[in-house]
Amino acid sequence: MLKRPAFHIDLGACIGCKTCMVACIDKNDLPRGILFRRVSEYSGGGWTRRKDGTFVQNVFAYYLSIACNHCENPICVRSCPTTAMQKDEYGIVSVDPEKCVGCRYCEWGCPYSAPQYDADSGKMTKCDLCRDYLEQGKPPACVAACPTRALQFGEYDDLVARFGKSEVVAPLPDPAITQPNLLCTPGPTAQPPKSRNGKVCNPEEI
Ligand code: SF4
Ligand code: SF4
Repeated sequence: MLKRPAFHIDLGACIGCKTCMVACIDKNDLPRGILFRRVSEYSGGGWTRRKDGTFVQNVFAYYLSIACNHCENPICVRSCPTTAMQKDEYGIVSVDPEKCVGCRYCEWGCPYSAPQYDADSGKMTKCDLCRDYLEQGKPPACVAACPTRALQFGEYDDLVARFGKSEVVAPLPDPAITQPNLLCTPGPTAQPPKSRNGKVCNPEEI
């Protein structure tokens, strides 16, 4: 098991196929309406007519595959009034269904919308990094499934050494809030954080 498990996303390599999302649904046998991993399409820009009648465009689109980031400062853990949400010695943040009372405070606190409420059980559910796979020395299902290797997993420091310093892009929240174990390599059209140039175009999917 890793000491500080982390994800890396390469926005230039992600093609938005959602294979990671589907692999997660399959691995966790998730019911309709619950997603531990979501792939957002962020796009914007447009075409402008110039004086000579020609057009110039600044259209962009990219995808963000996001799950729980098993943060160093997990606001979900601090928000939980029953200690059901915990970060363990392996850095995995998970919820104990025996202690969860379904108040949803963790869901409201998390800037990544990672905790997912199961209306049938009245409990919160979330990504546990495929703990059983990690114990067998295998990567999480989402990472194994990504056909372009845009999604990677490993020790935080090893990922930094491989991919360099992480950058924040729109519409990701400020990492200072929770110190997520998420490293991001922007693609060529990435927009700066807090940019209002684009919007998430597939809200019904995520
Ligand atoms: S991403 Fe959200 S749910 Fe996951 S550890 Fe961070 S604050 Fe908690
Ligand atoms: S499987 Fe890989 S390429 Fe496809 S959406 Fe997920 S991260 Fe992007």
